[in-house]
Amino acid sequence: MTMSVSQLRVHKIESMGTLDGPGIRTVVFLQGCLLHCGYCHNADTWQATGGEWMETDALFDLIMHNRAYFKKRGGVTFSGGEPLLQAKALLPLVKRLKEEDIHVAVDTSGAIWNDAVEALFPYIDLVLLDVKHTNALAYSALTGGRLSHTILFLERLKEAAKPYWIRQVIIAGITDSPLQVKILDALTASPFREKIELLPYHNMGEHKWSPETLPFKIVAHETSDEVIEELYKAIGVTNDAESTI
Ligand code: SF4
Repeated sequence: MTMSVSQLRVHKIESMGTLDGPGIRTVVFLQGCLLHCGYCHNADTWQATGGEWMETDALFDLIMHNRAYFKKRGGVTFSGGEPLLQAKALLPLVKRLKEEDIHVAVDTSGAIWNDAVEALFPYIDLVLLDVKHTNALAYSALTGGRLSHTILFLERLKEAAKPYWIRQVIIAGITDSPLQVKILDALTASPFREKIELLPYHNMGEHKWSPETLPFKIVAHETSDEVIEELYKAIGVTNDAESTI
């Protein structure tokens, strides 16, 4: 078995997550983000210098401790922030997890592609790709980043035949039109897409916002279940529980 002495900058860890990938998962939120989404619930993950250093050996032990809960479908999800900013340090840990047959998912905006991400890629079982918007100008206004980076990432997923889920936060007046969601559906379709998740915007995490950390904060009302249901219908999915397509 490979041993590792590297460290990761960790924001927080959820031992029994059920929202970020299949089954019950240990969700490791890594520190640092490339984007500055106007609706971010985790603005305190943005600074790469925040969070706490954690040895990957300790993280490995913690994940293995939770293994009994994973059963057939669960595993570990690396989220953030943007977990792929720490792809180089993640690689030895993920290799060890794969040696133990642990299912590994990554929750990313797809805003980063470099040699370290490419090296990590073969060891990832599932990518949760968050496509913030399908219009390039709106994407930049919403996140400060570029849609073209996410599209490039999506192409890499398809080339590698990598299973992926598409996610998008539905915000009133920004992403909540049926047309926008239909474009999302068409843009991201492939035999390797397992699911589309439309996530309702909510005001959680508002207490973390300040003019310094989130200067272009979005103020919107929370997205209702009815709106989400209508948007699923627009792409031929009858409800959230059936969003596997
Ligand atoms: S990708 Fe956007 S929503 Fe996610 S942590 Fe970064 S700024 Fe926040």
